[in-house]
Formats: sequence, structure tokens, C-alpha cells
Amino acid sequence: MEIPPDLSGDKELIYRTAYEVSSQFPPEYWREKDLKEEFAEEFFRAIAEQGFMGIVIPQEYGGSGYGLEELAVAIEGLVRGGAGMAGVWYIMLTEIFLALPITRFGTKEQKEKYLPGIAEGRIEGALALTEPDVGSNTLLIKTTAVKEGDEYVVNGRKVFISGIDRAGAFILVARTKSPEETGRRSLGLSLFIVDMPSKNVRYSPIPKHGINYSKSCEVYIEDLRIPEENLLGPLDAGWYVLLDILNPERIGFAIGATAIGYLALSKAVEYAKNRVVFDRPIGSYQAVQHPLARSYAMLEGARLLAYRAAATYDRLAPPRDPKSFDEVVSRSTGLSEVGRNSNIAKYVAIEAGIEAVYWAMQTFGGYGYAREFDVERWWREINLLRLAPVTQQLALNYIARHVLGLPRGT
Ligand SMILES: Cc1cc2nc3c(=O)[nH]c(=O)nc-3n(C[C@H](O)[C@H](O)[C@H](O)COP(=O)(O)OP(=O)(O)OC[C@H]3O[C@@H](n4cnc5c(N)ncnc54)[C@H](O)[C@@H]3O)c2cc1C
Repeated sequence: MEIPPDLSGDKELIYRTAYEVSSQFPPEYWREKDLKEEFAEEFFRAIAEQGFMGIVIPQEYGGSGYGLEELAVAIEGLVRGGAGMAGVWYIMLTEIFLALPITRFGTKEQKEKYLPGIAEGRIEGALALTEPDVGSNTLLIKTTAVKEGDEYVVNGRKVFISGIDRAGAFILVARTKSPEETGRRSLGLSLFIVDMPSKNVRYSPIPKHGINYSKSCEVYIEDLRIPEENLLGPLDAGWYVLLDILNPERIGFAIGATAIGYLALSKAVEYAKNRVVFDRPIGSYQAVQHPLARSYAMLEGARLLAYRAAATYDRLAPPRDPKSFDEVVSRSTGLSEVGRNSNIAKYVAIEAGIEAVYWAMQTFGGYGYAREFDVERWWREINLLRLAPVTQQLALNYIARHVLGLPRGT
């Protein structure tokens, strides 16, 4: 195990534990899960037992009370230990989508109800944001939540909702007021915690290219009644609560992408030392060396950006009084540095990770295309990250408009 030299103390321990637990699951395990399209139950149980579902959950609710930086270290260890994308994916669905927003914006009752179960690995999570007509343009979602007595009645459709088939609870994003009523498009969204299973929430899995140890589903919500105590954060300020999920999501996938890059690269380097073609190990040819060396250098830079973004989040996005609408909305100004660093990290890390996996695949020659050498699986996995959680174009849009100050496009 190569411990990244910048990790020490608790972080080194988290990395070491994550790497060790992950390396108990050999490549054959992941090949089979991917092929059979099965949830990696044994892996999930093992990481939950080690406390990895509760890293950001406060100790009083059964977690470790760490920040996003430590969560990023755990993700890096799990991915590099051999789990590939699964090492970030399962953490994302349950810990970043569900535990983090409840920790930051939940009421005492919500925290007591959900956090201990999440920390123990009994409650899995999901986030239902994307809709058939709304992906990049989040603020235009059409799912509505209408107040009736002390309940909200929800109707709408969602798409690509990962993990909803197993979720004990998920975060739903819905419109509680139209943009016309609020006069500002970013107002009028609200977040709800939805308990599952529910007969009013039906779903069907979408067959997909990779990450087949987790289902991503089309979701139909019909007359779902949510008690008002399940509103998460202030009514109509859901967009600002959602930022506390979307930025960590970008950061988590940024560290995950670099980690998949390192994983693929380490296998390629090993192969290049041993594969002899024209009487010499292929790793002695500069045409093989340079892309691997370049990929490594790019990963090192991208990894620093991902950790910078995680540290910025921990420093600048402290939890606020969840009842105060004004507090939650006004904190968005303080979050601009988090948005800046998250989008930059997401963009750079995904490109660096993809380049590393691409060159790893080339190094394996024809074997890179064979399932047996795993790199083709990491290739299918990492390519998702150019499209989701936010496309690379949209990350660049953010940098162009919010960092460089360029005018909005039409
Ligand atoms: C496997 C998988 C799992 C997912 N899991 C979840 C989940 O758990 N929960 C969830 O809510 N969502 C999930 N998603 C959805 C994901 O977040 C969206 O697919 C993503 O945000 C892109 O939205 P879209 O697919 O609607 O693309 P669109 O928004 O339709 O974009 C299509 C293309 O147009 C480009 N484009 C659009 N507008 C602009 C612009 N202004 N400038 C430049 N280019 C532009 C985009 O970059 C893209 O290339 C998942 C998606 C996948 C594939």
C-alpha cells in the first residue's frame, strides 16, 4: 500500500483502514458484480462496519464527526484499494446525498430518526433531483409539492435516480412555489426527506453502460403525502440547502476520479514492467513511459485541487440555523469560493482521471479491452463523470461566468 505522503494522523489512519478493507475484495468480485448487475452487499456491509457511512455524522448520532476532507480521504483509500468507482458511489448515495444535508440542516427529530441508522449502515440514501426534461437546468424542475393541512402532496417524475431501489429514505427536490410567485428562480424549491418504500413512489431501473452494482432508475411519484416535519431546511430555500449536497458531490467525485486514475495507472505500471515486446519490457519505451508519467503528474495536481475544495467546504460552509430562511439564503454569498473550488476541482480531476485510465488501457494493448484486466471497467465507470453529476460543459460555464465574470450565454 502506498500511503500518499501528505496524509498523517487521523487522515493516514482513515486512508489505511479504507485501503485495507477495500483490498479484501479482489478484482474478480467486482467483475462478477458488474456482470451480474448485483449490489455489492458484502462490500457495503464491510465499509459500514468500519464506520465509513458515518464519517460526517456527529458523534452523538453514532458517527465520527469529521468533515469533508476526511470523507475524501476515505473515498480515496476505498477507490485505490481496488473498489474503483464503487468506493465513491456508495458513499455518495448514502453519506453525501442523505447524511450530510440532514447533519447540516435537519431538526433534532430528523437527526435522531435517520442519522444513527445511516451510521450503522441500516439506512441507505438517494437524491431525486434530475427530471426527464430537466438535468443541467436544475431550477426548472416541475415536480410539485402542494401543502394540504399538515402534509405536502407531491406529484412528478424523476430520472436517473441512483440507489432509490434500496433507499430507506431519500432527498426529494420539489417546487413549493413557482418562480413567478417568488420573483427569483432560485427561490421556491424545497427539500423533503421521503421514507421508503412507498406505494406512491414507483421506479424502474435504466439499463446502463457501467456501475452496474447500483441501479439508476426512472421514478414516478403520484399523490405522495409527506408530513410537514419531513421538510428539510427552510421552505422555499431548498436551492441553498441543495448547494450543500451539490458542491460536496462534485468534490467527492473529483477525489474519486483521481483515485480511479491512480488505481488504473498502478496496474498499468506493473504490466509495463513485465510485458516484453521486441525483447524489452514495454515500460522501457518512451512512448509508453511518457503518457504514464504525464498522467501521474496530472493526477497529482488534480488531487491537490480536490483536497483544496474539500478544505474550503469545511472552512466556509458551516451549518447554520436550519429554521432561518434569511440565514440559509444569505449564506450563498459565502459559498461562492466553495462553488469556485468545487467546479475547478471537478473539471480538472475528471479530465486527469480519464486521461490516466485511457493511457492505462493503451498500455495493456489488446488486453486493455478484455474484462479480465479490469481497466475497461474503470474506463466505463469514469466516463460517467464527464456527464454527471454535472457535465464538464456546465462546470466550465460556472468558471466562465462566476470566476472569470464573462456574460451569461443565451
Ligand atoms: C448513471 C447516472 C446516474 C445518475 N444519478 C443521479 C442521481 O442519483 N440523482 C439525480 O438527481 N440525478 C442523477 N443523474 C443525472 C445527472 O445528474 C444528469 O444526467 C446530468 O446533470 C446532466 O443532465 P442531462 O442528462 O439532463 O443533460 P442535459 O442537461 O440535457 O444536457 C445535454 C448536453 O447539453 C449540454 N448543455 C446543456 N446546457 C448547456 C449550456 N448552457 N452550455 C453548454 N452546454 C450545455 C450538456 O453539457 C450536455 O452535454 C445521473 C445520471 C447518470 C447518467
